[in-house]
Amino acid sequence: MVGKITVITGPMYSGKTTELLSFVEIYNIGKKKTIVFKPSIDNRYGTDTVSTHTGFQVKAIRISKSKEILDYLKDGIDAVFVDEIQFLDVELVDIVKKLVFDGIDVYCAGLDISYLENPFETTSKLLAIADEVIKKKAVCEKCGEHRATYSYKIVPNGGEIDVGGKDKYIAVCRECLKKLKTE
Ligand SMILES: [Zn+2]
Repeated sequence: MVGKITVITGPMYSGKTTELLSFVEIYNIGKKKTIVFKPSIDNRYGTDTVSTHTGFQVKAIRISKSKEILDYLKDGIDAVFVDEIQFLDVELVDIVKKLVFDGIDVYCAGLDISYLENPFETTSKLLAIADEVIKKKAVCEKCGEHRATYSYKIVPNGGEIDVGGKDKYIAVCRECLKKLKTE
């Protein structure tokens, strides 16, 4: 038996983690064994929780390198979930390929493009090999329409990889991005 690859992507605030966890919930209801990972972007280790807006929570293991996933896999895991894949190294692609050939379903969630509109390497490569891609949209901060596909940075500097939330980024649609760029 082989597994399948699902990638959930889109801008910030588009509900990617919520969508990822909705799949965790489905496997859990079916009494299947799951394991959730997220990058240790702030150099903290151990387990952390990821939660949805509705309060559903699961434990996630923080990793700093993609290959650490293999250290945590034991027999009987049905599905592996990885959040914030844009922050993980590209070796994740080979690991995901290995897992699906071992019969494990893999769900990945993360940003598709940076605020400079450059595709994140790890996300793009996983999108290319995915069986299913779920492209999420956010509500545009400027016009209020549910069509935002861009994460727009509202504060200067900080580099292309700059972790932040509403203090640094807003989600905008292409139309509003165009206006912001010409302001
Ligand atoms: Zn807009």
